Amino acid sequence: MEKKHLLYEGRAKRVYATDDPELLIAAYKDSRGTAAVPGRGAVNNRVSVCLMQMLEREGIPTHLVEQRSDRETVIRRVHIIPLKVIIRNVAAGSLCTRIGLPEGTRLRSAILEYYYRSAALGDPMINRYHAFELQLCTPEELSVIDRYAFRINDILKPFLRGLGVDLIDCKLEFGRLPDGTIVLADEITPDTCRLWDAETGEKLDRDRFRRDPGRAKDVSEAILRRMTRGNFV
Ligand code: 5GP
Repeated sequence: MEKKHLLYEGRAKRVYATDDPELLIAAYKDSRGTAAVPGRGAVNNRVSVCLMQMLEREGIPTHLVEQRSDRETVIRRVHIIPLKVIIRNVAAGSLCTRIGLPEGTRLRSAILEYYYRSAALGDPMINRYHAFELQLCTPEELSVIDRYAFRINDILKPFLRGLGVDLIDCKLEFGRLPDGTIVLADEITPDTCRLWDAETGEKLDRDRFRRDPGRAKDVSEAILRRMTRGNFV
């Protein structure tokens, strides 16, 4: 497959057209915003591919086609639904400031939240009625998204726990294929989840990276190593 022009550049990835109109190439960058760490893109690419392959095996459709090189993955072209879907198991980050729970409080059951992806508005939190008013998706599509989000959490949580990592929360994005099928899109990496060491509580994710960007790649690699040790890669 031939890589063609750049379609989109985000903070963490570039997305290219290919000679197949249904397929794109996602290329992970070593930087995310300002902090660049050599090799980070390749590690995050591998982590996301492995997790999406596992989710596919468990029956969650994703945009993944195949890893193309160390930092490139072939994905299906989707219409991205402009919602950040957050699923939480333990209180952290904006949940603590919004409803006053102390950081680290284990939630009675997983909490699902939606944020409207809009740079101009600063990605505000919304509910399903706002999503329908904005025609981001249909009620049927949102119930599929909800079901997938809880199921993804139910798959990732015990898997990561087996690697000694607690899944605190996770950001998911979904897309619509030309035939209307909803699929998991974007990426699942330590840049899109909060991951704490199950034993020590040490932060292994981007909260850690923000304070200590040089450690970003080390942490992703540690997670990849733990995945490899479980014969996962
Ligand atoms: P919070 O709402 O507590 O700031 O974030 C909840 C979870 O979603 C965290 O794991 C955070 O890393 C992730 N998250 C929220 N918004 C974004 C975003 O715009 N980009 C990325 N990569 N992750 C996000």
